[in-house]
Amino acid sequence: MERRESAQERAAELTERVGSVQGKIDDALARRDAALEGFDSEAASVAKEREVIAASVPADLLKLYEKLREQQGGVGAAKLYQRTCQGCRQELAITELAEIRKAPSDTVVRCENCRRILVRTSESGL
Ligand SMILES: [Zn+2]
Repeated sequence: MERRESAQERAAELTERVGSVQGKIDDALARRDAALEGFDSEAASVAKEREVIAASVPADLLKLYEKLREQQGGVGAAKLYQRTCQGCRQELAITELAEIRKAPSDTVVRCENCRRILVRTSESGL
């Protein structure tokens, strides 16, 4: 009799634990689904933003960028930051930096090492 009551108590305890774990699984699944919805929405928003920006880029430059992007694992242009190409992380040679410094601001300059388009900013170190 006692053994039977003990077994019933143990079964009730385990049933409660299973319910608790199932609750945690349900919560995690709901959070995952919400996150996936967020990603989809963000992806659509970024795609639209990209479309608008791409429309403002000259066709030949966009074509070059797309070609480089395909060749360079998804990154066709990189920031020139403190004399370093942020695409390949190589510091540019002094002669290369001098050439870039002389180039007009609307000239497309590229990294000697990885050939990506370099984006010049005030932090380029020129
Ligand atoms: Zn580079």
